[in-house]
Amino acid sequence: MQYFDQETILYLNGAFVKAHEAKIDLYSQTLHYGYGVFEGIRSYRSIDGETRIFKATEHFERLRESANAINLPFSFDLKEIIDATYQILALNNLQDAYIRPLVFAPPNMTYAFNTTSYITIQAWKMQPFLGEKLLRIMSSSFQRPNPAGFHIHAKACGHYVNSIVSSQDAKRQGYDEALLKDMEGYVAEGPGANVFYEKNHQLFTPAEGYILNGITRKTILEICRDLQISVTEKQITHDEMKEADAAFFCGTGVEVIGWESLDNGLFPIQFDQSISGIIRKAYLSLVRSDMTSYENCKKEVLNLQP
Ligand code: PMP
Repeated sequence: MQYFDQETILYLNGAFVKAHEAKIDLYSQTLHYGYGVFEGIRSYRSIDGETRIFKATEHFERLRESANAINLPFSFDLKEIIDATYQILALNNLQDAYIRPLVFAPPNMTYAFNTTSYITIQAWKMQPFLGEKLLRIMSSSFQRPNPAGFHIHAKACGHYVNSIVSSQDAKRQGYDEALLKDMEGYVAEGPGANVFYEKNHQLFTPAEGYILNGITRKTILEICRDLQISVTEKQITHDEMKEADAAFFCGTGVEVIGWESLDNGLFPIQFDQSISGIIRKAYLSLVRSDMTSYENCKKEVLNLQP
Protein backbone atom coordinates (compact mmCIF):
# COMPACT_ATOMS: atom_id res chain seq x y z
CA MET A 1 0.00 0.00 0.00
CA GLN A 2 1.52 3.29 -1.08
CA TYR A 3 0.31 6.24 0.94
CA PHE A 4 2.41 8.92 -0.71
CA ASP A 5 5.09 9.56 -3.27
CA GLN A 6 7.44 12.46 -4.06
CA GLU A 7 4.56 14.53 -5.45
CA THR A 8 1.95 13.99 -2.72
CA ILE A 9 0.73 17.07 -0.91
CA LEU A 10 -0.76 17.10 2.57
CA TYR A 11 -2.21 19.76 4.83
CA LEU A 12 -0.24 20.71 7.92
CA ASN A 13 -1.32 23.51 10.25
CA GLY A 14 -2.72 25.80 7.57
CA ALA A 15 -0.14 25.04 4.87
CA PHE A 16 -0.08 22.68 1.89
CA VAL A 17 3.25 20.87 1.92
CA LYS A 18 4.95 17.97 0.18
CA ALA A 19 4.36 14.80 2.21
CA HIS A 20 8.01 13.77 1.99
CA GLU A 21 9.12 17.15 3.37
CA ALA A 22 6.58 17.36 6.23
CA LYS A 23 8.00 16.98 9.75
CA ILE A 24 6.51 16.13 13.11
CA ASP A 25 8.12 16.36 16.50
CA LEU A 26 9.47 13.07 17.87
CA TYR A 27 8.69 14.38 21.36
CA SER A 28 4.96 14.67 20.60
CA GLN A 29 2.68 13.35 23.32
CA THR A 30 0.67 11.68 20.54
CA LEU A 31 3.58 9.52 19.40
CA HIS A 32 4.51 8.47 22.92
CA TYR A 33 1.08 7.99 24.51
CA GLY A 34 -1.43 7.73 21.65
CA TYR A 35 -2.93 10.99 22.89
CA GLY A 36 -4.44 12.33 19.69
CA VAL A 37 -7.64 12.05 17.67
CA PHE A 38 -8.31 11.25 14.04
CA GLU A 39 -11.00 10.64 11.45
CA GLY A 40 -11.50 8.21 8.61
CA ILE A 41 -13.46 9.81 5.78
CA ARG A 42 -14.11 8.95 2.15
CA SER A 43 -14.68 11.04 -0.93
CA TYR A 44 -16.32 9.68 -4.05
CA ARG A 45 -16.64 10.62 -7.67
CA SER A 46 -20.38 11.20 -7.84
CA ILE A 47 -22.57 10.11 -10.71
CA ASP A 48 -22.39 13.69 -12.08
CA GLY A 49 -18.57 13.58 -12.10
CA GLU A 50 -18.15 15.88 -9.08
CA THR A 51 -15.95 14.99 -6.11
CA ARG A 52 -18.00 14.76 -2.90
CA ILE A 53 -16.80 14.04 0.61
CA PHE A 54 -19.42 11.79 2.16
CA LYS A 55 -20.81 13.27 5.41
CA ALA A 56 -17.95 15.77 5.66
CA THR A 57 -19.58 17.87 8.38
CA GLU A 58 -20.46 14.84 10.52
CA HIS A 59 -16.88 13.57 10.35
CA PHE A 60 -15.23 16.89 11.16
CA GLU A 61 -17.72 17.51 13.97
CA ARG A 62 -16.81 14.11 15.40
CA LEU A 63 -13.13 15.08 15.12
CA ARG A 64 -13.86 18.15 17.25
CA GLU A 65 -15.97 16.13 19.73
CA SER A 66 -13.22 13.52 20.00
CA ALA A 67 -10.67 16.24 20.80
CA ASN A 68 -13.02 17.80 23.38
CA ALA A 69 -13.60 14.40 24.98
CA ILE A 70 -9.90 13.94 25.70
CA ASN A 71 -9.19 17.63 26.53
CA LEU A 72 -7.05 18.21 23.46
CA PRO A 73 -7.34 21.86 22.33
CA PHE A 74 -9.21 22.20 19.02
CA SER A 75 -9.04 25.70 17.56
CA PHE A 76 -9.64 24.80 13.91
CA ASP A 77 -12.51 26.26 11.94
CA LEU A 78 -14.58 23.39 10.48
CA LYS A 79 -15.36 25.18 7.23
CA GLU A 80 -11.70 26.02 6.74
CA ILE A 81 -10.55 22.44 7.24
CA ILE A 82 -13.30 21.01 5.04
CA ASP A 83 -12.26 23.47 2.30
CA ALA A 84 -8.63 22.45 2.86
CA THR A 85 -9.64 18.80 2.43
CA TYR A 86 -11.26 19.52 -0.92
CA GLN A 87 -8.06 21.33 -1.91
CA ILE A 88 -5.95 18.36 -0.88
CA LEU A 89 -8.09 16.12 -3.10
CA ALA A 90 -7.75 18.50 -6.04
CA LEU A 91 -3.99 19.02 -5.55
CA ASN A 92 -3.43 15.26 -5.50
CA ASN A 93 -5.82 14.59 -8.38
CA LEU A 94 -8.04 12.36 -6.24
CA GLN A 95 -11.78 11.77 -6.44
CA ASP A 96 -12.31 8.33 -4.88
CA ALA A 97 -10.12 8.70 -1.82
CA TYR A 98 -9.68 7.87 1.82
CA ILE A 99 -9.06 10.97 3.91
CA ARG A 100 -7.27 10.98 7.23
CA PRO A 101 -7.29 14.09 9.44
CA LEU A 102 -5.22 13.78 12.61
CA VAL A 103 -5.12 16.24 15.50
CA PHE A 104 -1.95 15.73 17.47
CA ALA A 105 -0.29 17.07 20.57
CA PRO A 106 2.88 19.12 21.03
CA PRO A 107 5.98 17.82 22.85
CA ASN A 108 4.81 17.02 26.36
CA MET A 109 5.93 14.09 28.46
CA THR A 110 3.74 15.04 31.41
CA TYR A 111 0.04 14.41 31.85
CA ALA A 112 -0.69 18.13 32.10
CA PHE A 113 -3.14 19.96 29.82
CA ASN A 114 -1.83 21.24 26.49
CA THR A 115 -2.44 24.79 25.34
CA THR A 116 -2.17 23.96 21.65
CA SER A 117 -2.58 21.16 19.15
CA TYR A 118 -1.71 20.59 15.49
CA ILE A 119 -3.59 19.21 12.52
CA THR A 120 -2.64 17.27 9.43
CA ILE A 121 -4.96 16.04 6.67
CA GLN A 122 -3.80 13.37 4.28
CA ALA A 123 -5.56 11.56 1.43
CA TRP A 124 -4.79 8.52 -0.66
CA LYS A 125 -6.47 5.96 -2.85
CA MET A 126 -7.72 3.02 -0.84
CA GLN A 127 -9.82 0.00 -1.75
CA PRO A 128 -12.40 -1.16 0.83
CA PHE A 129 -10.41 -1.70 4.03
CA LEU A 130 -11.31 -5.41 4.28
CA GLY A 131 -11.51 -6.09 0.55
CA GLU A 132 -14.62 -7.01 -1.42
CA LYS A 133 -14.88 -10.76 -0.74
CA LEU A 134 -17.23 -12.08 1.93
CA LEU A 135 -15.44 -12.30 5.25
CA ARG A 136 -14.57 -15.18 7.53
CA ILE A 137 -15.05 -13.76 11.02
CA MET A 138 -13.70 -15.01 14.33
CA SER A 139 -15.24 -14.30 17.73
CA SER A 140 -12.37 -12.64 19.51
CA SER A 141 -11.29 -13.18 23.09
CA PHE A 142 -10.47 -9.44 23.14
CA GLN A 143 -13.15 -7.11 24.46
CA ARG A 144 -13.73 -3.53 23.37
CA PRO A 145 -12.39 -0.98 25.87
CA ASN A 146 -14.33 -0.39 29.06
CA PRO A 147 -16.34 2.87 28.73
CA ALA A 148 -15.50 3.61 32.36
CA GLY A 149 -11.84 3.76 31.38
CA PHE A 150 -11.99 5.36 27.94
CA HIS A 151 -14.22 7.89 26.21
CA ILE A 152 -15.16 5.28 23.67
CA HIS A 153 -17.27 7.67 21.56
CA ALA A 154 -14.00 9.48 20.77
CA LYS A 155 -11.86 8.32 17.87
CA ALA A 156 -8.70 8.57 19.92
CA CYS A 157 -5.43 7.19 18.56
CA GLY A 158 -4.54 5.05 21.58
CA HIS A 159 -7.84 3.16 21.48
CA TYR A 160 -6.68 1.57 18.25
CA VAL A 161 -4.08 -0.60 19.95
CA ASN A 162 -7.07 -2.72 20.96
CA SER A 163 -8.19 -2.79 17.30
CA ILE A 164 -4.76 -3.71 15.95
CA VAL A 165 -4.01 -6.54 18.37
CA SER A 166 -7.48 -8.09 18.10
CA SER A 167 -7.42 -7.96 14.30
CA GLN A 168 -3.90 -9.41 14.18
CA ASP A 169 -4.99 -12.19 16.53
CA ALA A 170 -7.86 -13.15 14.17
CA LYS A 171 -5.56 -13.06 11.14
CA ARG A 172 -2.96 -15.18 12.90
CA GLN A 173 -5.66 -17.80 13.44
CA GLY A 174 -6.57 -17.82 9.75
CA TYR A 175 -9.62 -15.54 9.75
CA ASP A 176 -10.21 -12.25 7.93
CA GLU A 177 -11.31 -10.21 10.91
CA ALA A 178 -12.30 -10.24 14.57
CA LEU A 179 -15.68 -9.68 16.21
CA LEU A 180 -15.27 -8.21 19.68
CA LYS A 181 -17.61 -8.41 22.63
CA ASP A 182 -18.30 -5.70 25.17
CA MET A 183 -17.28 -6.10 28.80
CA GLU A 184 -20.69 -7.65 29.60
CA GLY A 185 -20.11 -10.36 27.00
CA TYR A 186 -22.53 -9.07 24.35
CA VAL A 187 -21.53 -8.58 20.71
CA ALA A 188 -20.02 -5.11 20.29
CA GLU A 189 -18.27 -4.39 16.98
CA GLY A 190 -15.28 -5.12 14.81
CA PRO A 191 -11.86 -3.53 15.30
CA GLY A 192 -12.78 -0.78 12.82
CA ALA A 193 -16.42 -1.30 11.90
CA ASN A 194 -19.92 -1.69 13.32
CA VAL A 195 -21.90 -4.87 12.89
CA PHE A 196 -25.44 -5.74 11.75
CA TYR A 197 -27.12 -9.09 11.35
CA GLU A 198 -30.24 -10.13 9.47
CA LYS A 199 -32.89 -12.61 10.59
CA ASN A 200 -36.22 -13.16 8.82
CA HIS A 201 -35.81 -10.00 6.75
CA GLN A 202 -35.22 -7.84 9.81
CA LEU A 203 -31.98 -6.19 10.86
CA PHE A 204 -30.38 -6.02 14.29
CA THR A 205 -27.37 -4.10 15.56
CA PRO A 206 -25.78 -3.63 18.99
CA ALA A 207 -27.23 -0.67 20.87
CA GLU A 208 -25.11 2.35 21.78
CA GLY A 209 -23.10 2.25 24.99
CA TYR A 210 -20.09 0.08 24.26
CA ILE A 211 -19.51 0.87 20.60
CA LEU A 212 -18.24 3.67 18.43
CA ASN A 213 -21.57 4.86 17.05
CA GLY A 214 -20.29 5.04 13.50
CA ILE A 215 -21.43 7.49 10.86
CA THR A 216 -21.94 4.56 8.47
CA ARG A 217 -24.04 2.76 11.13
CA LYS A 218 -26.25 5.84 11.38
CA THR A 219 -26.46 5.96 7.56
CA ILE A 220 -27.54 2.30 7.50
CA LEU A 221 -30.25 3.06 10.07
CA GLU A 222 -31.46 5.89 7.81
CA ILE A 223 -31.39 3.61 4.76
CA CYS A 224 -33.43 0.99 6.67
CA ARG A 225 -36.05 3.58 7.58
CA ASP A 226 -36.18 4.80 4.00
CA LEU A 227 -36.33 1.30 2.49
CA GLN A 228 -38.87 0.24 5.16
CA ILE A 229 -36.65 -2.46 6.57
CA SER A 230 -37.26 -3.21 10.23
CA VAL A 231 -34.14 -2.56 12.31
CA THR A 232 -33.64 -2.99 16.04
CA GLU A 233 -30.82 -1.68 18.24
CA LYS A 234 -30.34 -4.00 21.21
CA GLN A 235 -27.96 -6.15 23.22
CA ILE A 236 -26.99 -9.09 21.03
CA THR A 237 -25.67 -12.43 22.17
CA HIS A 238 -23.12 -14.46 20.33
CA ASP A 239 -25.67 -17.28 19.89
CA GLU A 240 -28.14 -14.95 18.20
CA MET A 241 -25.41 -13.82 15.86
CA LYS A 242 -24.63 -17.44 14.93
CA GLU A 243 -28.31 -18.08 14.10
CA ALA A 244 -28.42 -15.11 11.70
CA ASP A 245 -29.41 -15.43 8.04
CA ALA A 246 -26.71 -12.94 7.02
CA ALA A 247 -24.40 -10.39 8.63
CA PHE A 248 -22.12 -7.52 7.67
CA PHE A 249 -19.62 -4.97 8.88
CA CYS A 250 -20.07 -1.31 8.05
CA GLY A 251 -17.75 1.65 8.38
CA THR A 252 -16.22 4.38 6.28
CA GLY A 253 -13.15 2.30 5.48
CA VAL A 254 -14.87 -1.08 4.95
CA GLU A 255 -18.06 0.48 3.46
CA VAL A 256 -20.58 -2.42 3.73
CA ILE A 257 -19.04 -5.87 3.54
CA GLY A 258 -20.89 -9.15 4.03
CA TRP A 259 -19.76 -12.11 6.08
CA GLU A 260 -19.32 -15.62 4.79
CA SER A 261 -19.05 -17.24 8.22
CA LEU A 262 -18.71 -16.68 11.94
CA ASP A 263 -16.35 -19.14 13.67
CA ASN A 264 -16.57 -21.27 10.51
CA GLY A 265 -20.38 -21.48 10.67
CA LEU A 266 -21.67 -20.44 7.24
CA PHE A 267 -24.61 -18.06 6.94
CA PRO A 268 -27.55 -19.72 5.13
CA ILE A 269 -28.63 -16.92 2.78
CA GLN A 270 -26.34 -15.85 -0.05
CA PHE A 271 -25.32 -12.30 0.73
CA ASP A 272 -26.39 -11.06 -2.74
CA GLN A 273 -29.86 -12.50 -2.16
CA SER A 274 -30.31 -10.98 1.28
CA ILE A 275 -31.77 -7.72 2.53
CA SER A 276 -28.24 -6.97 3.74
CA GLY A 277 -26.98 -7.31 0.16
CA ILE A 278 -29.52 -4.70 -0.97
CA ILE A 279 -28.43 -2.39 1.84
CA ARG A 280 -24.87 -2.67 0.56
CA LYS A 281 -26.02 -1.62 -2.90
CA ALA A 282 -28.09 1.22 -1.46
CA TYR A 283 -25.11 2.50 0.55
CA LEU A 284 -22.76 2.38 -2.45
CA SER A 285 -25.39 4.23 -4.51
CA LEU A 286 -25.88 6.88 -1.84
CA VAL A 287 -22.19 7.70 -1.45
CA ARG A 288 -22.01 8.37 -5.20
CA SER A 289 -25.30 10.32 -5.20
CA ASP A 290 -26.67 7.74 -7.65
CA MET A 291 -30.30 8.16 -6.70
CA THR A 292 -31.66 6.08 -9.60
CA SER A 293 -29.80 3.05 -8.42
CA TYR A 294 -30.77 3.90 -4.81
CA GLU A 295 -34.47 3.99 -5.76
CA ASN A 296 -34.08 0.60 -7.47
CA CYS A 297 -32.97 -0.82 -4.13
CA LYS A 298 -36.38 0.13 -2.71
CA LYS A 299 -38.04 -2.03 -5.37
CA GLU A 300 -35.62 -4.88 -4.69
CA VAL A 301 -36.55 -4.84 -1.00
CA LEU A 302 -40.25 -5.03 -1.84
CA ASN A 303 -39.56 -8.02 -4.10
CA LEU A 304 -37.68 -9.83 -1.34
CA GLN A 305 -40.15 -9.15 1.48
CA PRO A 306 -42.43 -12.12 2.21
N1 PMP B 1 -16.17 1.11 15.15
C1 PMP B 1 -14.85 1.34 15.19
C2 PMP B 1 -14.08 0.80 16.33
C3 PMP B 1 -14.23 2.07 14.18
O1 PMP B 1 -12.91 2.29 14.21
C4 PMP B 1 -14.99 2.53 13.10
C5 PMP B 1 -14.33 3.28 11.97
N2 PMP B 1 -14.28 4.64 12.25
C6 PMP B 1 -16.36 2.28 13.10
C7 PMP B 1 -16.93 1.56 14.13
C8 PMP B 1 -17.23 2.81 11.99
O2 PMP B 1 -17.32 4.20 12.07
P1 PMP B 1 -17.65 5.11 10.82
O3 PMP B 1 -18.84 4.51 10.19
O4 PMP B 1 -17.93 6.43 11.41
O5 PMP B 1 -16.47 5.09 9.93
